[in-house]
Amino acid sequence: MAGASGGDPYGAFVRTGPGKFLAARTGLPRPPRLRRYEEGQDLLTGPALVTGLTGATHVDAVRDALRSAGAEFDDAGTGSPGALVVDASGLRTVDQLAGLLATAADFKRTRGRVLVLSAVPSDVADPEGRAVQQGLEGFVRSLAKEARGGTTVNLLRVAEGATSALRSAVEFFCSARSAYVDGQPIVVGPGEPHPVRDHRVAVVTGAAQGIGAATAEVLARSGHHVVCVDIAASGQKLATVANRVGGSTLHLDVTADSAPRTLAEHLADRFDGADVVVHNAGITRDRSFVNLDEAAWGSVLAVNLGAPIRLTTALLDHPGALAPGARFVCLSSMNGIAGAKGQTNYATSKAGLVGLVQALAGPLSERGFAVNAVAPGFIETPMTAAMPPVPRELGRRTSSLQQGGLPVDVAETIAWLARPDAAGVDGQVLRVCGQNLLGA
Ligand code: NAD
Repeated sequence: MAGASGGDPYGAFVRTGPGKFLAARTGLPRPPRLRRYEEGQDLLTGPALVTGLTGATHVDAVRDALRSAGAEFDDAGTGSPGALVVDASGLRTVDQLAGLLATAADFKRTRGRVLVLSAVPSDVADPEGRAVQQGLEGFVRSLAKEARGGTTVNLLRVAEGATSALRSAVEFFCSARSAYVDGQPIVVGPGEPHPVRDHRVAVVTGAAQGIGAATAEVLARSGHHVVCVDIAASGQKLATVANRVGGSTLHLDVTADSAPRTLAEHLADRFDGADVVVHNAGITRDRSFVNLDEAAWGSVLAVNLGAPIRLTTALLDHPGALAPGARFVCLSSMNGIAGAKGQTNYATSKAGLVGLVQALAGPLSERGFAVNAVAPGFIETPMTAAMPPVPRELGRRTSSLQQGGLPVDVAETIAWLARPDAAGVDGQVLRVCGQNLLGA
């Protein structure tokens, strides 16, 4: 996999002696080195500190989750915690919000992860209580911008009865796997995990390179046979990825008329159904709106939005194409949320995927499936390497982490959403963008 600085020459230079000196003298950005998952590493860089504010109910569950993932605790309140978890879900009055101030000294000492727990605001009937819980989003987004050295701050909105998903979410957001997820809220609900099959199968479209290849790798590492899908022209690249991860290949243009049926039959007949489906294949054809022709509009909408809709429909309809408890993950984009100059076609397709996830989440959960989206920001892949230099550099530096993410950052997030014990995460759009500041 790519090194910590990926294809980012400035990021590599600024970590050298002369680079550090120059950046310190001139005030240029100094992107921190992010701690990413490595086999055998500890969950945290130091002990965990778990704090409950007024009315907190999740402290024991959080401690259990961290303990079972191997964390130790900083109960004496000294040293440098590797994670600070603040349960603010019980706050209901404006006065009680002041309790957050008591965590400032702990925040200052923490190096790694800060996680704030809230209630789901719409579950709180009392207007003041709901306002207070919604206010935590502004708190978290701002704190993430103040954090230094690669420390991230995220918000878990915990629904009633969300014990199992809370455990996997705490583990993910406190671990190195969430290195590039920063300043984001996510709801965890009470979904029940299905029994785990011996042979889990994942299908990843667009797996020949970039985020798709990294996703195949991380899903294989977490025990999946990965069916790597890409166009025939991807040829040897797809085979190389599949060989590396011990998976198999399926050459398929996801926009072909026959693609939905081919994929559904392949998964049902050869694999007894897929446990995980990642709609990753995507293209850009950037042009200002007035210069867009039908081909540039149509191809982007067909690959990025039409294909996931048609494939998902076919997999849901075809007996045996999906295993019990199957998960769908769609690759949306920050540009679908914020909009981007020259990308009306792309942003329409990526915002459309958010609509797809929201439309399917309820009905699919009745069948025991879950569907979510990840929205990457600037990720170092062939797609972003093709950008002109100035927007490329802006994309990298204008996030709270001052660097682009790596494909593996998106892949780790997808792999978390695919975990059986993340069943309660449904209908969500999680940005993997280092808290990118561009756009809306
Ligand atoms: P990439 O261009 O590196 O790889 C995309 C893959 O999709 C390629 O292997 C390509 O051959 C395949 N593909 C394209 N059309 C296909 C088709 N019709 N059928 C089958 N496969 C097809 O892209 P990436 O940067 O790794 O992005 C992956 C996904 O993440 C895309 O959906 C993209 O829109 C999204 N995304 C990427 C970024 C980023 O910064 N790189 C940011 C936001 C969202």
